[in-house]
Amino acid sequence: MLIKNHILGFPRIGLKRELKIAQEKYWSGKISLEELLIVGKKIRKKNWKKQKELGLDFLTVGDFAWYDHVLTTSVMVGNIPERHKSENQKNILDILFNIARGKSSSDCKTVHASEMTKWFNTNYHYIVPEFSKNQNFSFFYKQLLKDIEEASVLNHPIKVVLLSPVTYLWLGKIKGKNFNKLDLLPKLLNVYKKILKKIYKKNVEWVQIDEPILTLDLDDSWKNAIKNTYTNFQNFSKILLTTYFGSINHNLELVSTLKIDGLHLDCVSEKYNLQEIHKYIQKDWILSLGIINGKNIWRANLIFWYNYLKKYLRLYLNVWISTSCSLLHVPMDLSLEKNFKKEIKEWFSFGFQKCFELVMLTNVLNKKILSIDCLKKWVLPLQNRENSSIVHNSHVKLRIQKLQKISSNRLSPYKIRFNIQKKILNLPDLPLTTIGSFPQTSEIRKLRFNLRKKKITQIDYDREIKKYIKYAILQQEKLGLDVLVHGEPERNDMVEYFSEYLEGFVFTNYGWVQSYGSRCVKPPIIIGDISRITPMTVYWSKYAQSLTKKFVKGMLTGPITILCWSFPREDLSHEIISKQIACALMDEVKELENEGINIIQIDEPALREGLPLRICDHKEYLSWATEAFRLCSLNIKDSTQIHTHMCYCEFKDIMPAIVKLDVDVITIETSRSDMDLLEFFKKFKYPNSIGPGVYDIHSPNIPTQKWIIKLLKTALKHIPYQRLWVNPDCGLKTRTWDESILSLKNMVQAVKKIRKKL
Ligand code: GLN
Ligand code: ZN
Repeated sequence: MLIKNHILGFPRIGLKRELKIAQEKYWSGKISLEELLIVGKKIRKKNWKKQKELGLDFLTVGDFAWYDHVLTTSVMVGNIPERHKSENQKNILDILFNIARGKSSSDCKTVHASEMTKWFNTNYHYIVPEFSKNQNFSFFYKQLLKDIEEASVLNHPIKVVLLSPVTYLWLGKIKGKNFNKLDLLPKLLNVYKKILKKIYKKNVEWVQIDEPILTLDLDDSWKNAIKNTYTNFQNFSKILLTTYFGSINHNLELVSTLKIDGLHLDCVSEKYNLQEIHKYIQKDWILSLGIINGKNIWRANLIFWYNYLKKYLRLYLNVWISTSCSLLHVPMDLSLEKNFKKEIKEWFSFGFQKCFELVMLTNVLNKKILSIDCLKKWVLPLQNRENSSIVHNSHVKLRIQKLQKISSNRLSPYKIRFNIQKKILNLPDLPLTTIGSFPQTSEIRKLRFNLRKKKITQIDYDREIKKYIKYAILQQEKLGLDVLVHGEPERNDMVEYFSEYLEGFVFTNYGWVQSYGSRCVKPPIIIGDISRITPMTVYWSKYAQSLTKKFVKGMLTGPITILCWSFPREDLSHEIISKQIACALMDEVKELENEGINIIQIDEPALREGLPLRICDHKEYLSWATEAFRLCSLNIKDSTQIHTHMCYCEFKDIMPAIVKLDVDVITIETSRSDMDLLEFFKKFKYPNSIGPGVYDIHSPNIPTQKWIIKLLKTALKHIPYQRLWVNPDCGLKTRTWDESILSLKNMVQAVKKIRKKL
């Protein structure tokens, strides 16, 4: 029997971000729907052609999404939030985009977007489905069937991907009256059965059903739901139950009883003992082993995996090999990168290369053409890496060792610091601030581009950036904000910017990965021990501060976020990597303080995202992650006010850890969820100062004063006014100046009105 290979999904943004470009053009009315649809079709076709060309045994169909695959699922099953169901809606894609982005109509009524949150332990965001008690489902958006037809033209076996209805329900949020989401499962299953029937009729042999919640701690009701679900799917195409991002060891009993035809395991997250696992595998199942890391960019150690598989293949031959998860999380093609030294480039593998690795390994396992020698050759650069001076720095290692004996607490407790800072900063009640960035205009981007292409000099660049900062400071003064920011015009991305200054990182030119919708990021790669070689932000912060009498916040990205939004090395624990970054930041914080910057914000939006999937692993993570964060402000003065900012996530479950960060002020995203986080503060008394975001910057809508006042009044019920800050819920870089100024004006006016009543 021959081993087969497949991937769980392919990046959908196009080799040069064609999807992003087309979407944004469509949103701004520059291209028509037809033109947009053609771009999507081309990307899909290219992806499948590539998969076939590279020698994969299946084309994976259904992994394309216009904004997000969870949102696609919502629309596919007709789950459109009531507020987005307008009768004069022209086409489904517009509805889909409105759900994702919100909509302001001509009568100035805003229809707000659905929430967005992290996709398990990745940096991808999905649009949170909304469920109400009596809702119905239907097979509403039939793009998938068209995709299958498009792919069929390539004359290659097809495997269709669907998000499991159970995981889909799990990911969603209840709107309105409380009820058990699982009550909706029977209705949803009916629709899924219809969909599966249609897929089956198109002669598709395999359907991959993604059930990543199997890696989580599930209670019996969810386990039963899973059990029940797969009994419904028996009369259609074969079902490959797919799990990824973590171990399902704790759910193997359950899985072994399911009516499925194949099981996929993420062997990268969990080096399953396959001999042990075997007793849970029914004898006619396909076992799909995800051995090529879909979340990181390192070349695979194919010799290791060869031996790993070989042992098992003595026992069982019904095996496929695959990527651990969808390749959505890695850049597409390493060969686009021309700037890496050969030595370093050979340590990496991107989307195409990962497919190549799979095919090569399959070939060797099947004893076709290739021999094990080609695997040995493939892993040779990895051996060179082990002793490379690019990777190891003994000073850094020593510094980390010494930290073990040091306490990372601030000098005095918060209450004392509060009074000291109050005297020095002398801010009004409900201080008004923003999160850091102001609009990244096309001029700034062009500037950066020109600098990179050496069309302008560093001096020209710095002069223009200064102009922008000056403008930003002026606008903030005019608006009447209390704590100003320099606006971050010099930053491409909040992680990339820092890593460019730090030793231990390298960068891609085209390594784009989708973060949400049309937003793509280019995560840096951590290749070695990390250290600060030069100040990173001091120059700009000092410049901004020199322009105003108000306080300007120094603005840094925290160690956990830098770690989470990079591709980390795999030979060092995340704890150690984050502490290396913390040491570098510690030097920066100290220098900012010495240079007279009184308020320093250390953004840590990814703290929650780094949380392990299993509850039993949370404690350990939170303990080292908070420790790494606090190290950044080691030994600073009580009078220096430390802020942090977090967004995109459910904070409730990590609140005790957030308290442990012991920052003076935290600004936090709340507005997308109608501030229901605030309800939480009724029970949980956050001890330090907090700025719950009063409007959603992800949407182009301008928040009204009335809306902001309403939110602030709710906030004041739970948070004493002495400790309440007022700010948008995230940075303004994706907005225009007009939008930002109008929104901030309303925010300032709202606060002025409330202050009078305090
Ligand atoms: N300071 C950053 C900004 O304003 C924070 C971004 C973020 O939280 N994602 O852009
Ligand atoms: Zn944010």
